[in-house]
Amino acid sequence: MQNKKCVFFDRDGVINKRIIDSYVTKQSEFEINLDILPILKFCDDNNFLKIIITNQQGIGKSMMNEMDLESVHNFMNNILLENQISTFDDIYFASELKNTEPFRRKPSPKMLLEAMKKYDLQKQDCILIGDSKSDIDSAVNADIMSIFYSIIEYEEANFSSQNTEEILTYLTTNFI
Ligand SMILES: [Mg+2]
Repeated sequence: MQNKKCVFFDRDGVINKRIIDSYVTKQSEFEINLDILPILKFCDDNNFLKIIITNQQGIGKSMMNEMDLESVHNFMNNILLENQISTFDDIYFASELKNTEPFRRKPSPKMLLEAMKKYDLQKQDCILIGDSKSDIDSAVNADIMSIFYSIIEYEEANFSSQNTEEILTYLTTNFI
């Protein structure tokens, strides 16, 4: 049997529009990125796991709590279902403030490694898509592939693009 493969997604700036200098604290602030839906569908079609790895410092700053985050994630998963896409297989979040121990936040690979252990994933069967250099650095630290979801290039990533078709072509060529 073929090993299970997994695409890890950063949330803010990839799955939903990023709110500059603030946080998505409630459902009304969550705006899906329509361009990512074909990539999520592609994961379903290829039987890949879809797992979110997200820093949510807004909890550490007491701007929201874990119930607020869960509410936003229920809203997000319902949007997927409305678009005939299965819900995320899992969601890992780091709520601590920057510079607080223990460092679970990206660029630490800790959340990725937790998920890879839980789902028995091999490094070569994992790829991360993120829009921040710290996302890519977490993938590098976990020794897995990464796509920098950006119009600029980051040399640490295996590929840089914000174009859905280009990303699907890259995944088809290099990950299937
Ligand atoms: Mg992001």
